[in-house]
Amino acid sequence: AKRIAPGSHVFFNQEMADEVQERLRISNALQQALANNELELYFQPQQQVQDNRQLGVEVLLRWLPPGKKPIPPGHFIPIAEETSLICDIGDWVLQQTCSRIQSWQAGGHAPGRVAVNISARHFHSTHFVSRLSRLLLQYPACRHNLTLEVTEGVILENLQESRNRMTQIKALGVNLSIDDFGTGYSSFAYLRELPVDELKLDRSFIQHIDQRPQDKAIIACLLELANTLQLSVVAEGVETEPQLATLAELNCPAYQGYLRARPMPEADLLRWLAAQ
Ligand code: C2E
Ligand code: CA
Ligand code: CA
Ligand code: CA
Repeated sequence: AKRIAPGSHVFFNQEMADEVQERLRISNALQQALANNELELYFQPQQQVQDNRQLGVEVLLRWLPPGKKPIPPGHFIPIAEETSLICDIGDWVLQQTCSRIQSWQAGGHAPGRVAVNISARHFHSTHFVSRLSRLLLQYPACRHNLTLEVTEGVILENLQESRNRMTQIKALGVNLSIDDFGTGYSSFAYLRELPVDELKLDRSFIQHIDQRPQDKAIIACLLELANTLQLSVVAEGVETEPQLATLAELNCPAYQGYLRARPMPEADLLRWLAAQ
């Protein structure tokens, strides 16, 4: 058996207990935050690669505790995902998003289609499709303007069940996008079986696309796959002109990234759109 320094396992357990305690604290605070309206939708524009024409926005959640710095989703979404809290947050995000889409359309300054991130637990929850269906009756302007982004992990958790769900979602007039495409699994065979509309190419492939021939080759390959399967594509995390130029050379249709715009609150988005 391995020798363990005296007391080290005690320390380890204490550290684990602290970690659990901290996650519980955040989870409770987050529940309060949801009730106290401290969550806010930010929006990041998506453009056509060829001519920078505005295509749509992705909704990215922020937690803005009063008097404190905004907390990025990476710090609280994974904790919310451990419990059904993610379903409450996800329902709230969808409802808020639909309400924004409806009001933008009424005001005549729609940013194009709107993409929302959906977590696995939420996607697979019993009432997901019926709630979505009800939401679209409440906000009819959203029906053909909403895209749901799910990761490969969400789908492969239960392929058969995912296919049923995705078919029902498509029947509602909602589009489906695979987020972080290429990062999770080596086989893309599941794409044949699912009613998917779009692939989002992960930033990790885009980051060095103008410097590393290997990365460029991977993107070229994924674009060809998308083309054959008639899927649209959005490249994520484009930060520089050389990255964008490489995407243009490869005929990548769409992108989002700090090069053009960071995620921003609604008022800034409307100003940004007006300035385009
Ligand atoms: P994601 O869906 O892959 O979103 C893209 C992330 O990349 C966002 O981080 C965005 O701000 C960031 N990003 C965009 N352009 C650039 C760029 O040019 N450079 C760099 N370095 N980053 C860029 P963010 O907003 O911190 O969100 C992180 C993740 O949190 C998201 O990753 C998504 O998985 C999750 N998330 C955000 N909002 C929601 C939500 O409403 N529901 C759920 N379930 N998850 C969400
Ligand atoms: Ca996303
Ligand atoms: Ca992504
Ligand atoms: Ca991601």
